[in-house]
Amino acid sequence: MQYRMNPKNGDKLSALAFGCMRLPKSEAECEAQILRAIELGVNYFDTAYIYSGSEEKLGRILAKNQVRDKVFLATKLPQAYVNKEADFERYFALELSHLQTTWIDYYLMHILTSYLRWNKLVELGVLDFIKAKKASGQIKNIGFSFHGYKEEFIKILDAYDWDFCMIQFNYLDENVQASKEGLRYAGKKGIPVMVMEPLRGGTLVNKLPPKAKKLWDEAGTYSYAARGLRFVLHHKEVLSVLSGMNSLDMIEENAKTAEDAKINGLSDKELALYQKAAQLIRQETLVGCTGCGYCLPCPQSVDIPACFACLNDTKLHSHSYALKWYALLVKDNNASRCVRCGLCESKCPQHIEIRQKLALTKKKLERFPYKLVRYFVRRFMEAH
Ligand code: SF4
Ligand code: SF4
Repeated sequence: MQYRMNPKNGDKLSALAFGCMRLPKSEAECEAQILRAIELGVNYFDTAYIYSGSEEKLGRILAKNQVRDKVFLATKLPQAYVNKEADFERYFALELSHLQTTWIDYYLMHILTSYLRWNKLVELGVLDFIKAKKASGQIKNIGFSFHGYKEEFIKILDAYDWDFCMIQFNYLDENVQASKEGLRYAGKKGIPVMVMEPLRGGTLVNKLPPKAKKLWDEAGTYSYAARGLRFVLHHKEVLSVLSGMNSLDMIEENAKTAEDAKINGLSDKELALYQKAAQLIRQETLVGCTGCGYCLPCPQSVDIPACFACLNDTKLHSHSYALKWYALLVKDNNASRCVRCGLCESKCPQHIEIRQKLALTKKKLERFPYKLVRYFVRRFMEAH
């Protein structure tokens, strides 16, 4: 296994981390997978309060096999549920109990999407909570997981002396969410980055369009999954990449990839292949938006690139996946705000008929159950 040194504290983290959002139902199967991953050198396990039953299962397996102190354990505060100061301690105590441990190595504010939300946590007393937990040794490192726009990511990074952060990053989404620019900004500040969604929820493995498959097949050597992981691990700012592995074969393969995939390990020729693959995937999508953001700002505050990322997910992934992110990320900056003024279209280097594609976004994503999903997302995931 390849290990990368955390510049903040000297921890050596395995380049491959185990994402525990969807652990197998069978506890025996789950135990076999976790133990095999540890044997192969994986030493970072990431769970969260809101991953139903995951903390409890992981805690039982680590305790039963007496391997808690062999791994770095990461879990997350369900910050959207926090409404008063006492909630910080209440959720943290529950998490320690679920995980059968007395400390958390890497603790994250889960799904921060904006600086405003971070500020709300500050007003509720999160800084005192963090200070006390770090002083007592119950939290070793503090970070946040992020889904939102680059500008908000940068504001949050600048607002606190973070030990680490976690973003979505993969070869199709270089310009989406925190984006490559956000990754580089974190690197410049010396804040190590954990990466989630390296295979975009499996899209870059199971749902590749035929032309992209052909490109990778002709290039040979690596599987689609290995291609995705190698791209992420090429970036020097990345401390470790999370993979939600659910079979022994997948664990073996990803561990092998993480062994070989070095920082700056991709040649210019390979990097050009990734660009080509991303282009071919986009061609097969409903709109060929690269997420560059040149069309912004829209006078009606339509988040054009986020609308199009979700529209494409209806084809690349699934309608329910797209709907979830449309409600969570796009929120009120949705396609129905567009008044068809056309200001954005002249700025788009891809010459996209933005008005027409926004109408399609509205048609596909704002029908039932959009309002219902948005209501629940608002209520449970966003407190502002
Ligand atoms: S056409 Fe729609 S999306 Fe484009 S600038 Fe005008 S209101 Fe905004
Ligand atoms: S300018 Fe065009 S390609 Fe870039 S984000 Fe806007 S719609 Fe997408």
